Amino acid sequence: MKLKDKVALISGANSGIGRAIATRFAQEGAHVAVNYLPVGQNAQTAQAEVDDFEKTYGETGIAVGGDVSKRADVEAMFAATVEKFGRIDIVVNNAGIEFKKPFVDVTDDEWNKVIAVNLFGSFLLSQLGARQMIAQGGGGKIINISSVHEDIPFPGYTAYCASKGAMRMMMRNLAMELAPNKINVNNIAPGAIATPINQSVLDDPKALKDAVTEIPWGRFGKPEEVAAVAAFLASDESEYVTGSTYYVDGGLTQQVTLY
Ligand code: NAD
Repeated sequence: MKLKDKVALISGANSGIGRAIATRFAQEGAHVAVNYLPVGQNAQTAQAEVDDFEKTYGETGIAVGGDVSKRADVEAMFAATVEKFGRIDIVVNNAGIEFKKPFVDVTDDEWNKVIAVNLFGSFLLSQLGARQMIAQGGGGKIINISSVHEDIPFPGYTAYCASKGAMRMMMRNLAMELAPNKINVNNIAPGAIATPINQSVLDDPKALKDAVTEIPWGRFGKPEEVAAVAAFLASDESEYVTGSTYYVDGGLTQQVTLY
């Protein structure tokens, strides 16, 4: 087990990639704080997930509700996790949103919402995580789930690309600033992964075929394939790895078509 007795806080961990990372971490022996946005059935889903970790892997966890774009919510989720487990060793910035719209039509609210969740939320969790790790000593791990769009353009998704590109520079800076505290900071840049965020493409055979054409590996990725890289980056095996982006994209970023 790579993460025995480590404590991990994962944002947006009630769905998709975040849920797969939480599951893999519990399987590797970690206590997982499953953050969820407190809307709809998310609280019940997150609690059921935590109960399942205990039943399946024997690892206790905690469901922590909160909007990552609100400092008070993020402070409360850190406080609840530290109260229960005494420390936090791993923070995963996974919560993220996107929307598609021509750049010329994007409203202030639409732009600000994406930046608030994807970038400001990652800033808040990274800052509180770093403070906690520095105070407790012994280093730690900060992992951002960015996107291949931290680097490659995606017309119609400018706010998303801007937020993920900024996460890349934040990660590179933090890797340098936090190195003396032995806190590793890295990004995982997924390509097209089969999760609810892509449901409309997955449900449309033509759109799916077009999307898969762009992927050298010939299929969408699975959330578990992102979680496998997260488990490595969260473990002691990544001791000398910091300031890097790990692409999990079936070769998508290598696909350059010249006409
Ligand atoms: P998803 O929609 O299943 O998961 C997103 C999660 O973020 C959900 O649990 C949602 O409730 C949560 N969330 C949204 N706003 C929040 C907020 N304000 N506070 C707390 N939680 C909030 O989609 P996913 O594919 O699992 O996405 C996870 C991450 O992976 C995102 O950052 C996304 O940009 C990134 N990503 C996904 C893909 C892909 O193809 N699926 C590709 C590249 C990057």
